Amino acid sequence: MLTLDFHPTGRHFLQIPGPSPVPDRVLRAMSLPTIDHRGPEFGALGRKVLAGLREVFRTQHPVIVYPASGTGAWEAALVNTMSPGDHVLMFETGHFASLWAKLAQRLGLKTEVMAWQGADEQLPAAPGWRRGVDAALIERRLREDAARGIKAVCVVHNETSTGVTSDIAAVRRAIDAAGHPALLMVDTISGLASADYRHDEWGVDVTVSGSQKGLMLPPGISFNAISPKALEAAKAATLPRSYFAWDEIVAMNKDGYWPYTPNTNLLYGLSEALEMLAAEGLPQVFARHQRWAAGVRAAVRAWGLPIQCADPAVYSPVLTGVITPPGVDADALRRLIHERFDLSLGTGLGKVKGRMFRIGHLGDSNDLTLLATLAGCEMGMKLFGIALAGSGVAAAMDHFASHAAPKPLQQAA
Ligand SMILES: *Cc1c(COP(=O)(O)O)cnc(C)c1O
Repeated sequence: MLTLDFHPTGRHFLQIPGPSPVPDRVLRAMSLPTIDHRGPEFGALGRKVLAGLREVFRTQHPVIVYPASGTGAWEAALVNTMSPGDHVLMFETGHFASLWAKLAQRLGLKTEVMAWQGADEQLPAAPGWRRGVDAALIERRLREDAARGIKAVCVVHNETSTGVTSDIAAVRRAIDAAGHPALLMVDTISGLASADYRHDEWGVDVTVSGSQKGLMLPPGISFNAISPKALEAAKAATLPRSYFAWDEIVAMNKDGYWPYTPNTNLLYGLSEALEMLAAEGLPQVFARHQRWAAGVRAAVRAWGLPIQCADPAVYSPVLTGVITPPGVDADALRRLIHERFDLSLGTGLGKVKGRMFRIGHLGDSNDLTLLATLAGCEMGMKLFGIALAGSGVAAAMDHFASHAAPKPLQQAA
């Protein structure tokens, strides 16, 4: 147990965009005794969670569960489908997109990174980090690739470093319009189970996700959802792989087992979380996050601060990036808020370090949790000496009061 001289009373406000707050029901399920991972009970658990995951990914095809963080699933997506020196096209929408590109580079892939072209006054160091993927740019690049050397297009669905989503269906259309055979790989580590996502319908070949964001679990497991085309590509791919290899896992998963010891207690939690999501209904889950996000944006606007996402069509339902006024060190502000109010906010990552902070609105939360979070931000900014245009808390209260929450599926029935 971690020992601290003093721990504040009440619950800590974990308002970073992942890990997200874990429901007590999930924590309780995870505290059950670990069972034999080769026994009959385990097979039933395995089959149940694998079926439930297919519902959440909206796929009829295999979903792999790795005892690894999301980064492991990024690696798995590439090593299963690519060969040394293969050309991959990545689109830099933010820090996570650039980390995936770095990983591809380290695996020995020829990594081409595209980015939005333009200038931005508020974030001059990272103008492309306020917008989603430009599918037209991808289409143009693929049309130029007459030799069909590009083997994969990799994009991030919900860029957790910026609070911007990307239109995945538009990327699929761009690839098809160019008549290009590249695989489409999508990171929805923070989008799954909090933003609308459709693996099969959007024609995604490999979807990468993780446990600690929309699925409301602790960190520690991650996923690859795989299309038949990606499974086929895996047969010819020659990058070295063993632990992450899909073939043995897919084969053993048919009966609910894994080739190695899976993360049993996290699977208990996953089973519980999948039940909770099914009872609420995925459309209701997405509407709930959209409503929270709109309330938080109302607060940011009332403060008179810029929202990092510059395109309202692609606001993230999962988190909101707030750009701090010039000269304000956003990390010093975050530290003050943490010390005074026991509230954790997301830091500015990479190119936007110190220029912004992120408010997570995902996981086990409700209107009042978010209002308290906004109150912590507002008090903190006042203490820090930032001149705010008005009260964000009041604006968010108005928003929540005037927009009813979506009714969970089970109650609507
Ligand atoms: C959290 C996150 C990651 C990294 O996942 P880890 O579990 O920290 O390895 C990658 N991409 C996105 C979009 C994320 O939100």
